[in-house]
Amino acid sequence: MISPGDVIQLFPDHVANQIAAGEVVQRPASVVKELIENAVDAGATEVSLVVKDAGRTLVQVVDNGFGMSVTDLRLAFERHATSKIRKTEDLFSIHTKGFRGEALASIAAIAQVDAISKRNTDDVGNKLIIEGGIVRDQLPATAQIGTSISVKNLFYNVPARRNFLKSKQVELRHIQDEFLRVTLAHAAINFKFFHNDAEVYVLKAGNLKQRIVQVFGRKIDSQLVPVSEETEIVKINGFVGKPESAKKQRGEQYFFVNQRFIKNNYLHKAIADAFENLLPNQYVPSYFLFLEIDP
Ligand code: ADP
Ligand code: MG
Repeated sequence: MISPGDVIQLFPDHVANQIAAGEVVQRPASVVKELIENAVDAGATEVSLVVKDAGRTLVQVVDNGFGMSVTDLRLAFERHATSKIRKTEDLFSIHTKGFRGEALASIAAIAQVDAISKRNTDDVGNKLIIEGGIVRDQLPATAQIGTSISVKNLFYNVPARRNFLKSKQVELRHIQDEFLRVTLAHAAINFKFFHNDAEVYVLKAGNLKQRIVQVFGRKIDSQLVPVSEETEIVKINGFVGKPESAKKQRGEQYFFVNQRFIKNNYLHKAIADAFENLLPNQYVPSYFLFLEIDP
């Protein structure tokens, strides 16, 4: 056997980002989730989601949040670049959605991205154009205060992933699921969602009950029973549906922990058990429950 010389090399950044992207971005809905969460983290009160072709050609999120400086706009797309944590201890008091600083770098590695941002202290905004993780251009641009990120042709440089996308209906369904999870968790924010230029949702800021009714329709209004409970470790708030509102198929089951959507069979079972004998077999109770715990 011949001993090798030095053979180990570091990946170039854009290759590392493409690999990391496999974890962060499964489908267009993942992009929707990351971009909307960033808008929420940026203190936006208005967030618009614009999607074309179930996210294959475009996922755009426009917010009126605090925006980014010209340097931050560039840095935001570097891996492990975040404004949300500075030291290890910060990990134990996270109040933002993001903190890993990986989403934008990952998304930009596998799409063509235009990002425009302007702070309320800036006279003019800035635009950054990135393709496959490589910065093509950065230039001043007219802009509203806030940030607009357009993700075009997702997976254009990873054909295997692009071919793996499901039908438009399925991808759109995933996008809608992600959208609704964030909008239910943040009833105080105005949200809009357009698909192929048609309005899908226009949700006005309000309280949780109003948001639930906007999303699921007037009929649900009289079906919601408020829940409010506080123990030493957890605060629980929200609504459960009256037994007669239960449906056979799943769909209106929402747990949030510190305003993040979660799925949890143990908690689901606890609710299902509480409804035992109140519901015919195979009916699932609806619930919108917010758990608050120390981060
Ligand atoms: P994370 O959210 O985990 O910090 P991201 O890659 O999603 O990582 O974003 C990187 C950084 O870019 C954020 O920490 C934030 O400072 C900035 N950023 C991203 N999106 C926005 C936005 N819509 N408005 C203002 N700043 C943003
Ligand atoms: Mg983020």
